Amino acid sequence: MEAGLVPRSVHEEDATRAAPDDLELVRGFLSLHDHEHGEPEGMPPSLESLRWWLGARELLPAEEHVRDQDLAWALRVRDALTAKVRESMGEPRDEEATALLNRAAEETGVRVCFGCAEGDAIHVEAGGVRGAIGQILGTAFLAELDGRWERFRICHDAGCSTVFFDRSKNKSGKWCSMSSCGNRAKVRAFRARQAAE
Ligand SMILES: [Zn+2]
Repeated sequence: MEAGLVPRSVHEEDATRAAPDDLELVRGFLSLHDHEHGEPEGMPPSLESLRWWLGARELLPAEEHVRDQDLAWALRVRDALTAKVRESMGEPRDEEATALLNRAAEETGVRVCFGCAEGDAIHVEAGGVRGAIGQILGTAFLAELDGRWERFRICHDAGCSTVFFDRSKNKSGKWCSMSSCGNRAKVRAFRARQAAE
């Protein structure tokens, strides 16, 4: 990867612990975001960020041209997957999001292969951004089937939309990382207690 391809606005330091195995691909996609210079609040990834991220994971050839409509499509799929995360956090099912995911899977030509090795069980017919997202959709689908999906959470910090894999015993994790959002919440709680005393 050329160093020049990394946009400066990209969230470079993701303190969140990686999700197990192939699920990190899904977690990373759902957490990918940009920052306006100096602003803590995350924004959806730009075309350059998406290209850089997919390229770094060898899901997209460096010379691949990405169009605005590819980005818009990828972001719609991402929103629908995020709705699925909310569902595993107890919100009611978003039927529209579910329908969108099924349509997107069809568009990418994603299919599964019985008897294939684990890393080879998902095949995608589409190329480009659609092909790359097809891989992510296939991985997400398998995670929903085997129950791992249920451990995805969205960080409780209001300004943070990072998705994390909840490893806590009773699935009660709240923060994408204890060193960032978790720590900020602790400090806030401490100050609130001090103010009350
Ligand atoms: Zn967070």
